[in-house]
Amino acid sequence: MRTAIYPGSFDPVTNGHVDVIRRAALLFDRLVIAVAANSEKSPLFSTEKRVRLIQESLADLPGVEVTTFQGLLVDFARAQGAAAIVRGLRAVTDFEYEFQMALMNRTLDGHMETVFLAAREEYTYLSSRIIKEVARLGGGFGRFVPPPVEAALREALGLRES
Ligand code: ADP
Repeated sequence: MRTAIYPGSFDPVTNGHVDVIRRAALLFDRLVIAVAANSEKSPLFSTEKRVRLIQESLADLPGVEVTTFQGLLVDFARAQGAAAIVRGLRAVTDFEYEFQMALMNRTLDGHMETVFLAAREEYTYLSSRIIKEVARLGGGFGRFVPPPVEAALREALGLRES
């Protein structure tokens, strides 16, 4: 039974994340999506809401669990019996930070591998941050996020139905 952890802020989950999740779910028997509860960034959505939005967006996907975690990722991954950490790579700009994290995690736990999935071309420019920015400024954002996230963003930002 191969378990992998896909950690992140997911504030909120985007179609880019969902694509990584669907592809990672094909590679592992069990995929645990771990929403970081101790992020230094001040999130738009609470940890519980971010978990719920991922669950609602992935209602049809078996073998995928969604939970929160605090503290050191390698400790959480080990407690889950994970063989690997999954991360998505969008561009060179992601690379330096992701490479640093992967090496640090492997130094902290010599058995913990990081598996990088290359973003799909049409999602390489998508990030939670840019979607929130577009939404706040009144741009259409429905095609970048799953339907439950679109509704939640409208509500959180006080936007009307388009
Ligand atoms: P973090 O705050 O840990 O970077 P994010 O929620 O922003 O959390 O991202 C979690 C992971 O998903 C990261 O590995 C990030 O590179 C990846 N990711 C984010 N957006 C995309 C996308 N559009 N396509 C592929 N991977 C993505």
